[in-house]
Amino acid sequence: MAVAGEPSFRESVDLMFNRAVALMDLSPGLEQKIRVCNSTYTVRFGVRLRGKIETFVGYRSVHSEHMEPVKGGIRYAMSVNQDEVEALAALMTYKCALVETPFGGSKGGLCIDPRAWEPHELEQITRRFAYELIKRDLINPAQNVPAPDMGTGEREMAWIADQYARMNTTDINAKACVTGKPPHAGGIQGRVEATGRGVQYALREFFRYPEDVAKAHLTGDLDGKRVVVQGLGNVGYHAAKFISEEDGAKIIAIIERDGALHNEDGLHVETVKQWIAKHGTIKGYPDANFVDDGAKLLELDCDILIPAAMEGVIHMGNAAQIKAPLIIEAANGPITFGADEILRQKGTVIIPDMYANAGGVTVSYFEWVKNLSHIRFGRMQRRAEEARHILLVDELERLAADKGLDWTLSPGFKEQYLKGAGELELVRSGLDDTMRGAYQAMRAIWHGRDDVEDLRVAAYIVSISRVAATYVSKGL
Ligand code: NAD
Repeated sequence: MAVAGEPSFRESVDLMFNRAVALMDLSPGLEQKIRVCNSTYTVRFGVRLRGKIETFVGYRSVHSEHMEPVKGGIRYAMSVNQDEVEALAALMTYKCALVETPFGGSKGGLCIDPRAWEPHELEQITRRFAYELIKRDLINPAQNVPAPDMGTGEREMAWIADQYARMNTTDINAKACVTGKPPHAGGIQGRVEATGRGVQYALREFFRYPEDVAKAHLTGDLDGKRVVVQGLGNVGYHAAKFISEEDGAKIIAIIERDGALHNEDGLHVETVKQWIAKHGTIKGYPDANFVDDGAKLLELDCDILIPAAMEGVIHMGNAAQIKAPLIIEAANGPITFGADEILRQKGTVIIPDMYANAGGVTVSYFEWVKNLSHIRFGRMQRRAEEARHILLVDELERLAADKGLDWTLSPGFKEQYLKGAGELELVRSGLDDTMRGAYQAMRAIWHGRDDVEDLRVAAYIVSISRVAATYVSKGL
């Protein structure tokens, strides 16, 4: 947690915004218009549970409507508050602009410990919260489209979608009112893994530039890199799993809320995840040293640190002790403004949250488009693509036979080449393209301007310029 005297999460985001905007040439009025949060709706509602009425407090904040619908997840946690939801909504505005998804920024939250309630109770609570937001158009396919965040997932999104459909029986686009739904309920392949997959694609893109890698005093690619991950939830689990299983990175520590695991030989992410699912804790996991004060392992000597749990975990109290030369912010706001200053002075390279975890909103965008078009990606093209590939391969084989050449395609090539892209392949391709494009936009500013020292300022400059351009074209 941030130490006393540090700015709040929202103030931290504003300070980061200010640092970037000071290097831009915007009118003070426009600058202020972009910075402020447009509105925050607070709802207090009662649900009869276990024989008595329980009152819950929830929020839906809209930071910017320069594009609509606005987009942003719904978080379930006891720590949810107005400041947090407004900070997260602002980050959504900048994130959507950076990865060019045509949305404004929003965020929602409910003060609740989801583990304290049975699934049928959570469904009642979620439907009631959704009802309150839907009737005010704070959930609506054309105006405000939520998604999962900490403490929520496919199940909650399916309940919200169903609640919207019940209240809007003639809306043919009802399914597009929320993203992150299960594939059988209007979702899209690859959404659950999307944020973690985006972290992997972001790291791969970073390691494509030896110049950037050198700034972090590293060399080579992800293979063999020693990685510490905090939070083995949706984002942290997928990111850690993909980079260890597919890119050869070594996960030497996993930090969870009830302690941390440390093994210099590398932890098997899937086995740790299964252990947590079975025992409800990482305690007792064999093949690793257990550390009670988990957060202490953020300071472990490693190549890459991936905070993927929550905001404010790297603060002025521990920033100086952080040894990782490269930090990728998989969570939103894991580094406070004060800590960011300390790390920048140390020369730590930080791949900022608004870019690093944008995979979720990118694939949410694909899901929203799929819902509005009422057809699965690849359905029309896949077999046509395969037929053209078959034509080519058959022709090559025929020519080789005609010429009497001893010529064969490598084993496995034919099957792989002939296979047309299905929805999952197309989603991954679109996500990869988005993550590469956004990195290149940040990088052009980072390397192209003498007054820009880091990727976060570069990311803000790219985003703010795009938001500003939209406002200007609207005549503001
Ligand atoms: P999640 O609820 O699935 O997982 C969070 C994990 O962090 C859990 O395993 C939890 O036990 C652990 N955790 C909580 N507090 C901790 C602490 N103090 N120390 C160590 N571990 C702790 O949440 P998520 O969806 O993976 O989200 C994580 C972060 O990523 C959040 O900042 C969220 O805003 C951000 N994010 C999520 C998505 C998404 O698609 N889910 C998209 C973009 C950004």
